[in-house]
Amino acid sequence: GPMTVGELAKSLKKEPSEVIKKLMMLGIMATINQEVDMDAITLIAEEYGIEVEHKVEVDETQFELIEEQDDPALLKERPPVVTVMGHVDHGKTTLLDTIRHTNVTAQEAGGITQHIGAYQIDYEQKKITFLDTPGHEAFTTMRARGAQVTDIAIIVVAADDGVMPQTREAINHAQAAKVPIIVAINKMDKPEANPEKVKQELMELNLVPEEWGGDTIFVPISALKGEGLDELMEMVLLVAEMEELKANPDRLATGTVIEAELDRGKGPVATVLVQNGTLRVGDPIVVGNTYGRVRAMTNDKGRRIKEAGPSTPVEITGLQDVPQAGDQFKVFEDEKKARAIGEARAEKQKQEERAATSRVNLDELFQQIQEGDIKEINVILKADVQGSVEALKAALEKIDVEGVRVKIIHSAVGAITESDVTLAAASNAIVIGFNVRPQPQAKQLAEEEKVDIRLHRIIYNVTEEIENAMKGMLDPEY
Ligand code: GDP
Repeated sequence: GPMTVGELAKSLKKEPSEVIKKLMMLGIMATINQEVDMDAITLIAEEYGIEVEHKVEVDETQFELIEEQDDPALLKERPPVVTVMGHVDHGKTTLLDTIRHTNVTAQEAGGITQHIGAYQIDYEQKKITFLDTPGHEAFTTMRARGAQVTDIAIIVVAADDGVMPQTREAINHAQAAKVPIIVAINKMDKPEANPEKVKQELMELNLVPEEWGGDTIFVPISALKGEGLDELMEMVLLVAEMEELKANPDRLATGTVIEAELDRGKGPVATVLVQNGTLRVGDPIVVGNTYGRVRAMTNDKGRRIKEAGPSTPVEITGLQDVPQAGDQFKVFEDEKKARAIGEARAEKQKQEERAATSRVNLDELFQQIQEGDIKEINVILKADVQGSVEALKAALEKIDVEGVRVKIIHSAVGAITESDVTLAAASNAIVIGFNVRPQPQAKQLAEEEKVDIRLHRIIYNVTEEIENAMKGMLDPEY
Protein backbone atom coordinates (compact mmCIF):
# COMPACT_ATOMS: atom_id res chain seq x y z
CA GLY A 1 0.00 0.00 0.00
CA PRO A 2 0.98 3.67 -0.01
CA MET A 3 3.58 4.99 2.42
CA THR A 4 5.23 8.22 3.35
CA VAL A 5 8.52 9.30 1.85
CA GLY A 6 10.12 8.74 5.23
CA GLU A 7 8.83 5.17 5.45
CA LEU A 8 9.86 4.51 1.87
CA ALA A 9 13.39 5.77 2.53
CA LYS A 10 13.59 3.58 5.62
CA SER A 11 12.44 0.47 3.80
CA LEU A 12 14.99 1.14 1.05
CA LYS A 13 17.65 1.86 3.68
CA LYS A 14 18.39 5.25 2.07
CA GLU A 15 18.52 8.79 3.37
CA PRO A 16 15.16 10.58 3.03
CA SER A 17 16.86 13.54 1.34
CA GLU A 18 18.19 11.20 -1.33
CA VAL A 19 14.75 9.72 -1.95
CA ILE A 20 13.22 13.20 -2.12
CA LYS A 21 15.81 14.13 -4.75
CA LYS A 22 15.02 11.03 -6.81
CA LEU A 23 11.31 11.77 -6.57
CA MET A 24 11.96 15.30 -7.78
CA MET A 25 13.79 13.93 -10.78
CA LEU A 26 10.67 11.91 -11.54
CA GLY A 27 8.64 15.08 -11.30
CA ILE A 28 7.14 14.30 -7.91
CA MET A 29 7.47 17.01 -5.30
CA ALA A 30 7.13 15.51 -1.87
CA THR A 31 8.18 16.22 1.71
CA ILE A 32 9.28 13.56 4.17
CA ASN A 33 5.84 13.10 5.74
CA GLN A 34 3.93 13.10 2.51
CA GLU A 35 2.38 9.91 1.19
CA VAL A 36 3.45 8.53 -2.18
CA ASP A 37 1.44 6.00 -4.17
CA MET A 38 2.37 2.49 -5.33
CA ASP A 39 3.43 3.72 -8.77
CA ALA A 40 5.91 6.17 -7.34
CA ILE A 41 7.18 3.55 -4.89
CA THR A 42 7.74 1.09 -7.75
CA LEU A 43 9.58 3.70 -9.84
CA ILE A 44 11.87 4.70 -7.00
CA ALA A 45 12.57 1.10 -6.08
CA GLU A 46 13.48 0.37 -9.69
CA GLU A 47 15.89 3.29 -9.60
CA TYR A 48 17.70 1.41 -6.86
CA GLY A 49 17.43 -1.88 -8.68
CA ILE A 50 14.97 -3.32 -6.20
CA GLU A 51 11.97 -5.22 -7.41
CA VAL A 52 8.75 -4.40 -5.67
CA GLU A 53 6.74 -7.46 -4.87
CA HIS A 54 3.20 -6.77 -5.88
CA LYS A 55 1.07 -8.54 -3.37
CA VAL A 56 -1.31 -11.08 -4.79
CA GLU A 57 -4.88 -10.05 -4.30
CA VAL A 58 -5.82 -12.23 -1.38
CA ASP A 59 -9.25 -12.03 0.07
CA GLU A 60 -8.37 -10.20 3.22
CA THR A 61 -11.88 -10.36 4.53
CA GLN A 62 -11.18 -14.05 5.18
CA PHE A 63 -8.80 -14.33 8.05
CA GLU A 64 -8.37 -17.69 9.60
CA LEU A 65 -6.03 -18.12 12.49
CA ILE A 66 -4.96 -21.49 11.15
CA GLU A 67 -3.51 -19.93 8.03
CA GLU A 68 -0.98 -17.99 9.98
CA GLN A 69 2.54 -19.08 9.46
CA ASP A 70 5.31 -17.82 11.61
CA ASP A 71 8.99 -18.34 11.21
CA PRO A 72 9.67 -21.13 13.76
CA ALA A 73 12.63 -19.12 15.01
CA LEU A 74 10.29 -16.37 16.19
CA LEU A 75 8.03 -18.67 18.18
CA LYS A 76 8.08 -18.54 21.95
CA GLU A 77 6.43 -20.72 24.56
CA ARG A 78 2.95 -19.57 25.51
CA PRO A 79 0.69 -20.52 28.43
CA PRO A 80 -1.87 -23.30 27.92
CA VAL A 81 -5.57 -22.43 27.67
CA VAL A 82 -7.70 -24.80 29.73
CA THR A 83 -11.44 -25.55 29.70
CA VAL A 84 -13.16 -27.38 32.55
CA MET A 85 -15.96 -29.74 31.49
CA GLY A 86 -18.07 -32.46 33.04
CA HIS A 87 -21.47 -33.43 34.37
CA VAL A 88 -23.64 -30.94 36.24
CA ASP A 89 -22.89 -30.75 39.99
CA HIS A 90 -19.62 -32.62 39.65
CA GLY A 91 -17.75 -29.51 40.78
CA LYS A 92 -16.66 -27.53 37.71
CA THR A 93 -17.57 -24.13 39.13
CA THR A 94 -16.08 -24.96 42.52
CA LEU A 95 -12.84 -26.05 40.86
CA LEU A 96 -12.58 -22.87 38.77
CA ASP A 97 -13.32 -20.72 41.83
CA THR A 98 -10.84 -22.51 44.06
CA ILE A 99 -8.06 -22.35 41.48
CA ARG A 100 -8.68 -18.67 41.01
CA HIS A 101 -8.82 -17.78 44.70
CA THR A 102 -5.87 -19.92 45.71
CA ASN A 103 -3.89 -17.90 43.27
CA VAL A 104 -4.92 -14.41 44.30
CA THR A 105 -1.99 -12.72 46.01
CA ALA A 106 -2.56 -10.84 49.24
CA GLN A 107 -2.16 -7.54 47.45
CA GLU A 108 -4.79 -8.41 44.87
CA ALA A 109 -7.16 -9.88 47.42
CA GLY A 110 -8.19 -6.41 48.52
CA GLY A 111 -9.08 -5.44 44.97
CA ILE A 112 -12.05 -6.51 42.97
CA THR A 113 -11.40 -9.47 40.73
CA GLN A 114 -13.48 -9.09 37.63
CA HIS A 115 -15.33 -11.86 35.93
CA ILE A 116 -14.40 -11.41 32.29
CA GLY A 117 -14.98 -14.98 31.08
CA ALA A 118 -11.41 -16.13 31.50
CA TYR A 119 -8.55 -15.73 33.92
CA GLN A 120 -4.88 -16.42 34.19
CA ILE A 121 -2.95 -17.79 37.15
CA ASP A 122 0.72 -18.09 37.98
CA TYR A 123 1.94 -21.49 39.01
CA GLU A 124 5.62 -22.06 39.71
CA GLN A 125 6.74 -19.26 37.42
CA LYS A 126 4.47 -20.42 34.63
CA LYS A 127 1.11 -19.08 33.58
CA ILE A 128 -2.07 -21.02 32.92
CA THR A 129 -5.19 -19.53 31.33
CA PHE A 130 -8.61 -20.85 32.31
CA LEU A 131 -11.82 -20.25 30.45
CA ASP A 132 -14.26 -19.31 33.17
CA THR A 133 -17.40 -20.73 31.57
CA PRO A 134 -17.59 -24.34 32.67
CA GLY A 135 -19.24 -26.92 30.47
CA HIS A 136 -18.96 -27.95 26.89
CA GLU A 137 -21.71 -25.74 25.47
CA ALA A 138 -19.46 -22.68 25.27
CA PHE A 139 -16.63 -24.85 24.02
CA THR A 140 -18.69 -26.28 21.19
CA THR A 141 -20.42 -23.04 20.31
CA MET A 142 -17.00 -21.58 19.72
CA ARG A 143 -15.90 -24.53 17.66
CA ALA A 144 -19.06 -24.26 15.57
CA ARG A 145 -17.91 -20.74 14.74
CA GLY A 146 -14.55 -22.05 13.61
CA ALA A 147 -12.63 -21.06 16.71
CA GLN A 148 -10.43 -23.40 18.66
CA VAL A 149 -9.17 -21.79 21.83
CA THR A 150 -8.78 -24.71 24.22
CA ASP A 151 -5.46 -26.49 24.46
CA ILE A 152 -6.33 -28.84 27.31
CA ALA A 153 -9.67 -30.09 28.67
CA ILE A 154 -10.03 -30.97 32.33
CA ILE A 155 -12.90 -33.44 32.63
CA VAL A 156 -14.29 -33.32 36.16
CA VAL A 157 -15.92 -36.52 37.43
CA ALA A 158 -17.37 -36.70 40.94
CA ALA A 159 -15.96 -39.72 42.72
CA ASP A 160 -19.27 -40.34 44.48
CA ASP A 161 -21.30 -40.28 41.28
CA GLY A 162 -19.12 -41.61 38.46
CA VAL A 163 -19.47 -41.20 34.73
CA MET A 164 -22.77 -39.55 33.78
CA PRO A 165 -24.31 -38.55 30.41
CA GLN A 166 -22.70 -35.12 30.33
CA THR A 167 -19.35 -36.66 31.23
CA ARG A 168 -19.59 -38.75 28.07
CA GLU A 169 -20.75 -35.76 26.09
CA ALA A 170 -17.86 -33.64 27.34
CA ILE A 171 -15.36 -36.36 26.44
CA ASN A 172 -16.83 -36.69 22.96
CA HIS A 173 -16.69 -32.93 22.46
CA ALA A 174 -13.06 -32.76 23.56
CA GLN A 175 -12.10 -35.74 21.42
CA ALA A 176 -13.94 -34.37 18.38
CA ALA A 177 -11.85 -31.23 18.77
CA LYS A 178 -8.68 -33.34 19.29
CA VAL A 179 -8.00 -31.63 22.61
CA PRO A 180 -5.95 -33.60 25.15
CA ILE A 181 -7.89 -34.63 28.25
CA ILE A 182 -6.90 -34.65 31.92
CA VAL A 183 -9.38 -36.36 34.23
CA ALA A 184 -9.91 -34.75 37.63
CA ILE A 185 -11.63 -37.18 39.98
CA ASN A 186 -13.37 -34.75 42.31
CA LYS A 187 -15.02 -34.90 45.74
CA MET A 188 -12.34 -37.23 47.06
CA ASP A 189 -13.08 -35.84 50.54
CA LYS A 190 -16.44 -37.63 50.56
CA PRO A 191 -16.54 -40.94 52.42
CA GLU A 192 -18.45 -42.57 49.55
CA ALA A 193 -15.81 -41.54 46.99
CA ASN A 194 -14.94 -44.42 44.70
CA PRO A 195 -12.15 -43.42 42.30
CA GLU A 196 -11.60 -46.98 41.10
CA LYS A 197 -15.15 -47.12 39.79
CA VAL A 198 -14.61 -43.85 37.92
CA LYS A 199 -11.46 -45.22 36.32
CA GLN A 200 -13.22 -48.40 35.30
CA GLU A 201 -16.09 -46.51 33.75
CA LEU A 202 -13.76 -44.21 31.87
CA MET A 203 -11.77 -47.12 30.58
CA GLU A 204 -14.84 -48.13 28.63
CA LEU A 205 -14.58 -44.75 26.94
CA ASN A 206 -10.95 -45.44 26.03
CA LEU A 207 -9.53 -43.20 28.73
CA VAL A 208 -7.09 -45.59 30.35
CA PRO A 209 -5.00 -44.49 33.33
CA GLU A 210 -1.23 -44.75 33.12
CA GLU A 211 -1.05 -47.33 35.92
CA TRP A 212 -3.22 -49.60 33.76
CA GLY A 213 -1.05 -49.18 30.70
CA GLY A 214 -2.89 -46.25 29.14
CA ASP A 215 -1.86 -42.65 28.62
CA THR A 216 -4.65 -40.68 30.28
CA ILE A 217 -3.72 -38.60 33.29
CA PHE A 218 -6.03 -38.96 36.29
CA VAL A 219 -5.71 -36.64 39.28
CA PRO A 220 -7.74 -37.20 42.44
CA ILE A 221 -8.83 -33.84 43.89
CA SER A 222 -11.20 -32.11 46.24
CA ALA A 223 -12.18 -28.85 44.61
CA LEU A 224 -13.99 -27.85 47.78
CA LYS A 225 -11.02 -28.35 50.09
CA GLY A 226 -8.42 -27.37 47.51
CA GLU A 227 -6.69 -30.75 47.71
CA GLY A 228 -4.78 -32.19 44.78
CA LEU A 229 -4.85 -28.92 42.87
CA ASP A 230 -1.06 -28.56 42.88
CA GLU A 231 -0.77 -31.92 41.19
CA LEU A 232 -3.52 -30.97 38.76
CA MET A 233 -1.68 -27.75 37.80
CA GLU A 234 1.55 -29.71 37.41
CA MET A 235 -0.19 -32.13 35.06
CA VAL A 236 -1.62 -29.23 33.05
CA LEU A 237 1.87 -27.83 32.64
CA LEU A 238 3.22 -31.26 31.77
CA VAL A 239 0.65 -31.77 29.02
CA ALA A 240 1.26 -28.20 27.83
CA GLU A 241 4.95 -28.96 27.56
CA MET A 242 4.28 -32.10 25.54
CA GLU A 243 2.00 -30.14 23.22
CA GLU A 244 4.78 -27.58 22.64
CA LEU A 245 2.40 -24.64 22.66
CA LYS A 246 4.00 -21.67 20.97
CA ALA A 247 3.20 -18.28 19.50
CA ASN A 248 5.00 -15.27 18.11
CA PRO A 249 4.58 -12.29 20.46
CA ASP A 250 6.27 -9.92 17.99
CA ARG A 251 3.47 -9.46 15.52
CA LEU A 252 0.05 -7.91 15.23
CA ALA A 253 -2.39 -9.78 17.43
CA THR A 254 -4.97 -12.36 16.40
CA GLY A 255 -7.33 -14.31 18.62
CA THR A 256 -10.89 -15.13 19.59
CA VAL A 257 -13.79 -13.50 21.41
CA ILE A 258 -14.67 -15.31 24.65
CA GLU A 259 -17.69 -13.21 25.49
CA ALA A 260 -19.11 -9.82 24.59
CA GLU A 261 -21.87 -7.50 25.64
CA LEU A 262 -23.16 -3.98 25.37
CA ASP A 263 -22.26 -1.94 28.45
CA ARG A 264 -24.35 1.14 29.09
CA GLY A 265 -21.39 3.30 29.91
CA LYS A 266 -18.56 1.73 27.95
CA GLY A 267 -20.39 0.67 24.80
CA PRO A 268 -19.50 -2.71 23.27
CA VAL A 269 -17.10 -4.63 25.51
CA ALA A 270 -15.53 -7.92 24.53
CA THR A 271 -13.30 -10.35 26.37
CA VAL A 272 -10.83 -11.61 23.85
CA LEU A 273 -8.16 -14.25 24.11
CA VAL A 274 -4.96 -13.26 22.35
CA GLN A 275 -3.76 -16.36 20.53
CA ASN A 276 -0.87 -14.95 18.57
CA GLY A 277 1.00 -11.67 18.59
CA THR A 278 0.62 -8.89 21.13
CA LEU A 279 -2.50 -6.76 21.44
CA ARG A 280 -1.98 -3.11 22.33
CA VAL A 281 -4.11 -0.14 23.29
CA GLY A 282 -4.67 1.91 20.15
CA ASP A 283 -4.52 -1.07 17.77
CA PRO A 284 -6.91 -0.93 14.79
CA ILE A 285 -8.84 -4.17 15.01
CA VAL A 286 -11.40 -6.24 13.13
CA VAL A 287 -13.49 -8.45 15.40
CA GLY A 288 -15.88 -10.83 13.67
CA ASN A 289 -17.96 -8.56 11.51
CA THR A 290 -17.24 -5.36 13.37
CA TYR A 291 -14.17 -3.22 13.83
CA GLY A 292 -12.72 -0.40 15.87
CA ARG A 293 -9.65 0.72 17.72
CA VAL A 294 -8.71 -0.73 21.09
CA ARG A 295 -9.56 2.11 23.46
CA ALA A 296 -8.91 0.43 26.80
CA MET A 297 -7.76 -2.97 27.94
CA THR A 298 -8.55 -4.46 31.35
CA ASN A 299 -7.17 -7.72 32.63
CA ASP A 300 -8.92 -10.34 34.78
CA LYS A 301 -7.69 -8.58 37.93
CA GLY A 302 -9.55 -5.43 36.92
CA ARG A 303 -6.34 -3.63 36.11
CA ARG A 304 -5.79 -1.38 33.10
CA ILE A 305 -3.05 -2.73 30.89
CA LYS A 306 -1.39 -1.47 27.74
CA GLU A 307 -0.47 -4.73 26.07
CA ALA A 308 -1.41 -8.40 26.17
CA GLY A 309 0.67 -11.26 24.79
CA PRO A 310 -0.29 -14.78 23.62
CA SER A 311 -2.82 -16.72 25.75
CA THR A 312 -3.79 -13.60 27.72
CA PRO A 313 -7.49 -12.86 28.17
CA VAL A 314 -8.38 -9.17 28.20
CA GLU A 315 -11.49 -7.09 28.10
CA ILE A 316 -11.40 -4.47 25.38
CA THR A 317 -13.53 -1.46 24.51
CA GLY A 318 -13.59 0.68 21.38
CA LEU A 319 -15.55 -1.52 18.98
CA GLN A 320 -18.34 -0.23 16.77
CA ASP A 321 -20.64 -3.12 17.54
CA VAL A 322 -20.95 -6.13 19.85
CA PRO A 323 -19.25 -9.21 18.39
CA GLN A 324 -20.21 -12.81 19.22
CA ALA A 325 -18.42 -15.40 21.33
CA GLY A 326 -16.24 -17.43 19.00
CA ASP A 327 -15.64 -14.57 16.57
CA GLN A 328 -12.05 -14.20 15.54
CA PHE A 329 -10.16 -10.95 15.68
CA LYS A 330 -7.17 -9.56 13.89
CA VAL A 331 -5.20 -6.35 14.26
CA PHE A 332 -4.34 -4.36 11.13
CA GLU A 333 -1.63 -1.81 10.47
CA ASP A 334 -4.01 1.08 9.97
CA GLU A 335 -7.50 2.01 10.92
CA LYS A 336 -8.68 2.60 7.37
CA LYS A 337 -7.88 -0.94 6.43
CA ALA A 338 -9.51 -2.34 9.57
CA ARG A 339 -12.63 -0.39 8.77
CA ALA A 340 -12.70 -1.48 5.13
CA ILE A 341 -12.25 -5.12 6.07
CA GLY A 342 -14.76 -4.92 8.92
CA GLU A 343 -17.35 -3.45 6.61
CA ALA A 344 -16.61 -5.97 3.87
CA ARG A 345 -17.03 -8.79 6.36
CA ALA A 346 -20.34 -7.44 7.59
CA GLU A 347 -21.53 -7.23 3.99
CA LYS A 348 -20.30 -10.72 3.23
CA GLN A 349 -22.10 -12.10 6.26
CA LYS A 350 -25.35 -10.53 5.06
CA GLN A 351 -24.91 -12.19 1.68
CA GLU A 352 -24.10 -15.53 3.25
CA GLU A 353 -27.15 -15.34 5.44
CA ARG A 354 -29.21 -14.77 2.34
CA ALA A 355 -27.60 -17.69 0.54
CA ALA A 356 -27.92 -19.85 3.67
CA THR A 357 -25.28 -22.39 2.74
CA SER A 358 -26.02 -25.87 3.96
CA ARG A 359 -23.82 -28.24 5.83
CA VAL A 360 -23.75 -31.99 5.39
CA ASN A 361 -27.10 -32.98 4.12
CA LEU A 362 -28.07 -36.49 3.24
CA ASP A 363 -29.56 -35.41 -0.06
CA GLU A 364 -26.28 -33.88 -1.16
CA LEU A 365 -24.08 -36.51 0.34
CA PHE A 366 -23.68 -38.56 -2.81
CA GLN A 367 -22.48 -35.54 -4.73
CA GLN A 368 -19.94 -34.70 -2.05
CA ILE A 369 -18.69 -38.29 -2.04
CA GLN A 370 -18.44 -38.25 -5.82
CA GLU A 371 -16.46 -35.07 -5.75
CA GLY A 372 -14.12 -36.64 -3.23
CA ASP A 373 -14.97 -34.01 -0.64
CA ILE A 374 -15.69 -36.50 2.09
CA LYS A 375 -14.41 -39.90 3.09
CA GLU A 376 -16.24 -40.12 6.39
CA ILE A 377 -19.77 -39.30 7.35
CA ASN A 378 -19.92 -37.92 10.86
CA VAL A 379 -22.97 -39.06 12.73
CA ILE A 380 -24.47 -38.13 16.09
CA LEU A 381 -26.71 -40.88 17.33
CA LYS A 382 -29.52 -40.48 19.86
CA ALA A 383 -31.83 -43.34 20.83
CA ASP A 384 -34.41 -44.24 23.44
CA VAL A 385 -32.48 -47.06 25.08
CA GLN A 386 -28.82 -48.06 25.39
CA GLY A 387 -29.47 -51.35 23.56
CA SER A 388 -30.59 -49.47 20.46
CA VAL A 389 -27.58 -47.16 20.66
CA GLU A 390 -25.24 -50.15 20.66
CA ALA A 391 -27.09 -52.01 17.90
CA LEU A 392 -27.22 -48.94 15.66
CA LYS A 393 -23.61 -48.10 16.28
CA ALA A 394 -22.54 -51.57 15.27
CA ALA A 395 -24.74 -51.53 12.17
CA LEU A 396 -23.61 -48.07 11.05
CA GLU A 397 -19.93 -48.71 11.63
CA LYS A 398 -20.16 -51.74 9.38
CA ILE A 399 -21.23 -49.67 6.40
CA ASP A 400 -18.50 -49.26 3.82
CA VAL A 401 -19.42 -47.92 0.42
CA GLU A 402 -16.29 -47.83 -1.67
CA GLY A 403 -14.11 -46.71 1.18
CA VAL A 404 -16.52 -44.13 2.54
CA ARG A 405 -17.44 -44.92 6.12
CA VAL A 406 -19.60 -43.76 8.97
CA LYS A 407 -17.98 -42.23 12.02
CA ILE A 408 -20.06 -41.96 15.17
CA ILE A 409 -18.75 -38.88 16.95
CA HIS A 410 -21.27 -38.94 19.75
CA SER A 411 -23.96 -41.37 20.83
CA ALA A 412 -26.24 -41.32 23.83
CA VAL A 413 -29.66 -42.15 25.17
CA GLY A 414 -32.21 -39.33 25.16
CA ALA A 415 -33.89 -36.66 23.08
CA ILE A 416 -31.94 -34.64 20.53
CA THR A 417 -30.73 -31.55 22.38
CA GLU A 418 -29.33 -28.18 21.37
CA SER A 419 -25.94 -29.43 22.41
CA ASP A 420 -26.21 -32.31 19.91
CA VAL A 421 -27.09 -29.87 17.15
CA THR A 422 -24.22 -27.56 18.02
CA LEU A 423 -21.82 -30.47 18.00
CA ALA A 424 -23.23 -31.57 14.63
CA ALA A 425 -22.78 -28.08 13.23
CA ALA A 426 -19.23 -27.94 14.55
CA SER A 427 -18.33 -31.33 13.14
CA ASN A 428 -20.34 -31.34 9.92
CA ALA A 429 -22.36 -34.26 11.19
CA ILE A 430 -25.87 -35.45 10.63
CA VAL A 431 -28.03 -36.33 13.62
CA ILE A 432 -29.90 -39.61 13.73
CA GLY A 433 -32.74 -39.95 16.21
CA PHE A 434 -34.00 -43.46 16.91
CA ASN A 435 -37.36 -43.52 18.68
CA VAL A 436 -36.54 -40.06 20.01
CA ARG A 437 -37.40 -36.56 18.84
CA PRO A 438 -35.56 -33.27 18.89
CA GLN A 439 -36.40 -30.86 21.70
CA PRO A 440 -38.17 -27.77 20.31
CA GLN A 441 -35.11 -25.51 20.75
CA ALA A 442 -32.94 -28.17 19.14
CA LYS A 443 -35.28 -28.36 16.16
CA GLN A 444 -35.18 -24.61 15.74
CA LEU A 445 -31.41 -24.51 16.04
CA ALA A 446 -31.08 -27.31 13.47
CA GLU A 447 -33.11 -25.27 11.03
CA GLU A 448 -30.95 -22.21 11.62
CA GLU A 449 -27.70 -24.13 11.41
CA LYS A 450 -28.86 -26.33 8.52
CA VAL A 451 -28.15 -29.50 10.43
CA ASP A 452 -29.80 -32.58 8.97
CA ILE A 453 -31.83 -34.52 11.54
CA ARG A 454 -33.10 -37.96 10.52
CA LEU A 455 -35.73 -39.70 12.63
CA HIS A 456 -36.33 -43.44 12.47
CA ARG A 457 -38.05 -46.30 14.26
CA ILE A 458 -36.52 -49.30 12.49
CA ILE A 459 -32.79 -50.03 12.54
CA TYR A 460 -32.79 -51.40 9.02
CA ASN A 461 -34.25 -48.13 7.72
CA VAL A 462 -31.41 -46.14 9.27
CA THR A 463 -28.65 -48.16 7.62
CA GLU A 464 -30.53 -48.39 4.36
CA GLU A 465 -31.02 -44.66 4.19
CA ILE A 466 -27.35 -43.93 4.84
CA GLU A 467 -26.20 -46.56 2.36
CA ASN A 468 -28.56 -45.29 -0.29
CA ALA A 469 -27.40 -41.74 0.24
CA MET A 470 -23.81 -42.90 -0.16
CA LYS A 471 -24.69 -44.66 -3.39
CA GLY A 472 -26.70 -41.74 -4.67
CA MET A 473 -29.94 -43.70 -4.54
CA LEU A 474 -31.82 -41.73 -1.96
CA ASP A 475 -35.54 -41.68 -2.66
CA PRO A 476 -36.72 -38.20 -3.32
CA GLU A 477 -38.57 -36.79 -0.34
CA TYR A 478 -42.10 -35.76 -1.04
P1 GDP B 1 -20.90 -27.78 38.61
O1 GDP B 1 -22.35 -27.88 38.30
O2 GDP B 1 -20.13 -28.90 37.96
O3 GDP B 1 -20.30 -26.45 38.32
O4 GDP B 1 -20.75 -28.10 40.18
P2 GDP B 1 -20.53 -27.09 41.41
O5 GDP B 1 -19.14 -26.58 41.43
O6 GDP B 1 -21.62 -26.11 41.43
O7 GDP B 1 -20.67 -28.10 42.63
C1 GDP B 1 -21.87 -28.80 42.91
C2 GDP B 1 -21.93 -29.13 44.37
O8 GDP B 1 -20.87 -30.00 44.73
C3 GDP B 1 -21.77 -27.90 45.26
O9 GDP B 1 -22.65 -28.01 46.34
C4 GDP B 1 -20.33 -27.97 45.71
O10 GDP B 1 -20.13 -27.36 46.97
C5 GDP B 1 -20.10 -29.46 45.78
N1 GDP B 1 -18.70 -29.80 45.57
C6 GDP B 1 -17.90 -29.40 44.57
N2 GDP B 1 -16.67 -29.90 44.73
C7 GDP B 1 -16.67 -30.65 45.86
C8 GDP B 1 -15.69 -31.42 46.55
O11 GDP B 1 -14.53 -31.53 46.19
N3 GDP B 1 -16.11 -32.05 47.69
C9 GDP B 1 -17.38 -31.96 48.15
N4 GDP B 1 -17.69 -32.62 49.26
N5 GDP B 1 -18.32 -31.24 47.53
C10 GDP B 1 -17.98 -30.59 46.40
